[in-house]
Amino acid sequence: MKTIEHQGVVYQLPPCPSCGSNRKRCMRPSGHEAAEWHVARVQLFDEVNAELLPGSEPTA
Ligand SMILES: [Zn+2]
Repeated sequence: MKTIEHQGVVYQLPPCPSCGSNRKRCMRPSGHEAAEWHVARVQLFDEVNAELLPGSEPTA
């Protein structure tokens, strides 16, 4: 399972909601690796990122 290390804490990234892949690449139905992540996985990754980096908004 892919992990993200942030400030010394290692987070696990859940598998792709579309294809169930927990590898670095999404999987096509044929079993080959896809060039890009599925949209659902990108959105999930963004949500995780937002949790890890709550201060991403500009702090003036
Ligand atoms: Zn996928």
